[in-house]
Amino acid sequence: MTLRDRERYSRQIRFAPFGETGQQHLLDACVAVVGCGALGTFQADALARAGVGRLRIVDRDYVELSNLQRQWLFDERDASESLPKAIAAAQKIAAINSSVTVEPVVADLTAANIEELLEDADLILDGADNFETRYLINDFCVSRGVPWVYGAAVGSYGITMPIVPGITCCLRCVYPEPPTGAQSTCETAGVLGPATSLIASMQTAEAMKILSGERYRGKITTADVWTGEIRQIDQPSRDAACPACGLRQFAYLNGERRAPVSLCGRDAVQLHELRSPVDLDSLASRLSPLGSVRSNGFALRFETPPYLLTVFPDGRVIIKGTTDVGVARSLYARYIGG
Ligand SMILES: [Zn+2]
Repeated sequence: MTLRDRERYSRQIRFAPFGETGQQHLLDACVAVVGCGALGTFQADALARAGVGRLRIVDRDYVELSNLQRQWLFDERDASESLPKAIAAAQKIAAINSSVTVEPVVADLTAANIEELLEDADLILDGADNFETRYLINDFCVSRGVPWVYGAAVGSYGITMPIVPGITCCLRCVYPEPPTGAQSTCETAGVLGPATSLIASMQTAEAMKILSGERYRGKITTADVWTGEIRQIDQPSRDAACPACGLRQFAYLNGERRAPVSLCGRDAVQLHELRSPVDLDSLASRLSPLGSVRSNGFALRFETPPYLLTVFPDGRVIIKGTTDVGVARSLYARYIGG
């Protein structure tokens, strides 16, 4: 640790349970933030300030005006330029703490890329907006023995639980299957910034505790910032019949369960039909006679009202203006081909 590090992080080093040992562990650690929305931006910002060594930020989406109410690292320019969230977050973090190595990844986390994206992470923070991604993270972490911290928030309410494989229960011990039927989403039920930041703050604290080697107390925390009610219960013990940590059947990791294509509460569908990179420049020249085309080097946006197609270089497309996968596939076939 340098003298500058000692000065910079002096206030948390002075906090005895964390101390210089905790700081050194954090400086040596690689943390992956999966999903850089309300939870992920807070986690990334807080961990960068606390002095994490490497921060990998994985997000498939771009910044929109309606994100700014709760997504800490973004500003109006990011939204007007439709920057990918991972890129915008990395730019902000570089200005906050230049000694942190930030690795932005503009991609959807899938069974096909999770190994490449997360294999060297010491801990994973959940900033995802859907259960399928969380089950995939859970499978990966349980199979490799990597700790992760689950978190979710909607409306004024949120929940968080740290998962340390081999010690605590896992997500599927608590929720064996994803919830079925209509769920509250940030679009239907709204969401308050203080709810997401409270949950993200608790997730970050858990990450600091786990990485610093603090003795572990497994709790599930739920909080409602509107009623002011905060509850903690002990995590249940590990379930021997749990498909993941008990039976070690990793259906999400093995790709037997498909990731959803309808995006959570977004009036949008994501498709990833092409498995090869897309040349955005040549696509732009093909599409420009058909509608308005904008490209920022990270993504191409093609507007053909009432739809907006955002194409990423890896071949992934987000189609806004429909939640119907069939409509999305037909728009995709019409404009992107493949
Ligand atoms: Zn389990």
